[in-house]
Amino acid sequence: MNKSWITKSRWSREYNKGVEDFLNFASRSKNLSGKTLCPCKSCINRYFHSIQDVKEHIMTNGFFTGYVIWNRHGEDHKVVKGTENDGVVSMSNFESQTTQIEQP
Ligand SMILES: [Zn+2]
Repeated sequence: MNKSWITKSRWSREYNKGVEDFLNFASRSKNLSGKTLCPCKSCINRYFHSIQDVKEHIMTNGFFTGYVIWNRHGEDHKVVKGTENDGVVSMSNFESQTTQIEQP
């Protein structure tokens, strides 16, 4: 996923498009209250807000520029290798390897 928009100016087209992309992405990882962690410069993933509030925060405060791997929003950091070629995401890392320890 391209995140170069994070450092662009807030009124640029790239930034607005990037915010929309992020919100689409983040909406997949809401908590039970339907809220998602806010990655704005003020909250820095410490507080949950509705998608609409998160959008306002990002537009008002700016996106926390250190947050380039959206692991708190469901992105697998192993996939990010600095390429633009996303879309093919290996799910093998999610396979559970848990072993049941059976009581005798
Ligand atoms: Zn915020």
